[in-house]
Amino acid sequence: LIELKGVAKGFKSADGHLRSVLEGVDFQLAKGEIVALLGQSGSGKSTLLRIMAGLIPADAGDVHYGGQPLFGPAQGIAMVFQSFALFPWLTVQQNVELGLEAAGMPAADRAERAEAAIELIGLAGFEGALPRELSGGMRQRVGIARALVMEPDVLLMDEAFSALDVLTGERLRNEILELWDGGQMPTQAMLVVSHNIEEAVMMADRVLIFSSNPGRVRAELPITLPRPRRADSPEVRLLID
Ligand code: ATP
Ligand code: MG
Repeated sequence: LIELKGVAKGFKSADGHLRSVLEGVDFQLAKGEIVALLGQSGSGKSTLLRIMAGLIPADAGDVHYGGQPLFGPAQGIAMVFQSFALFPWLTVQQNVELGLEAAGMPAADRAERAEAAIELIGLAGFEGALPRELSGGMRQRVGIARALVMEPDVLLMDEAFSALDVLTGERLRNEILELWDGGQMPTQAMLVVSHNIEEAVMMADRVLIFSSNPGRVRAELPITLPRPRRADSPEVRLLID
């Protein structure tokens, strides 16, 4: 569904030098799979996701989506941001509707779709609330609803659960997996970025190990255990430990 070949990206530092963040990143995200990308802080995971979402261009290499080169944001690719990235002056409903509005959907359809996404993610009753009136977990849910409402083919989740306390993160993660495994999401592939091994092992069909300086995919671990997985099961413990 998405294919990356030789993707590279660098940023200019304050002293004007170009610092390479990603180099030679190769991997494919296929229909029907959840892939976890596991790497250290600063290794370039968020940068890679932004490239895959078409938000920033790669300096070199190819990104293909559905067989076509990706040149900018694509309708079928949605991202959940590490820092929520909600507009503080907009309500929950307005935040969730924004992408639909940009896509030119009429107001009535927009409202209906947004309400369904908000309900699905467990925030019914909070449509009129502002982000500052919500807990961190609720804000993260809004970020997820905003991605799901687009009914994306590809969902890119940038540490969507790590800003939450362990219990809330786990609950939200399980809810997403239930939607996915229950076929309640139109989404065809998910890439889950994490620096938490347990999270990766609990969710993914395949774990990619990302190295730093520069960031690239160094190893791959297939996980064939059926979901739902129990964190305390011997198979899962074996992988995590
Ligand atoms: P974390 O796990 O902490 O979220 P990460 O793997 O997502 O880290 P990135 O956020 O992709 O890492 O950042 C990788 C490197 O690129 C960092 O050194 C960061 O400072 C640098 N970087 C990212 N975006 C920019 C930017 N817009 N301008 C300059 N440097 C940037
Ligand atoms: Mg990041």
